Amino acid sequence: MSTAYDSSNIFAKIIRGELPAYKVYEDADTLAFMDIMPRSRGHALVIPKTPARNILDANPSQLAACLATAQKVGRAAMKAFDADGLTLQQFNETAGGQVVFHLHFHVLPRWSSQKLQPHTGQMEKPEVLAANAEKLRQALEAG
Ligand code: 5GP
Repeated sequence: MSTAYDSSNIFAKIIRGELPAYKVYEDADTLAFMDIMPRSRGHALVIPKTPARNILDANPSQLAACLATAQKVGRAAMKAFDADGLTLQQFNETAGGQVVFHLHFHVLPRWSSQKLQPHTGQMEKPEVLAANAEKLRQALEAG
């Protein structure tokens, strides 16, 4: 099994601006954008801007930067979507459920008695993703 970082992955292309994304937050080290197959309303992803395949090869500063951004995005998502709770998910290697091989953290707003949609299930409509990204950006700006 190869565990080398492959810079042709989808998230590396988003970082390089070769593929579009509904971006909600960016700083020197991380980027956050909407997941196109959301498991819950407002599902966002947080990634480091530098290469890491997953948590197994990431360095501590990449992990720290991603978690700080996940906390920011998560707090904003709680407000933006009037959520009851928040789930963070992170998958490693195919057997661990990973599909895209650039380190990422899932930030999932949750509501009481509402189950998560299937992982990599249905593609959300572009207008819904755009509206949710806007709500999240506004909540992030409001602090
Ligand atoms: P994981 O690797 O954590 O198992 O899953 C990858 C996640 O990336 C899934 O939740 C999937 O919906 C999301 N995803 C896959 N392709 C794209 C894409 O092109 N753009 C965005 N924004 N998300 C994607």
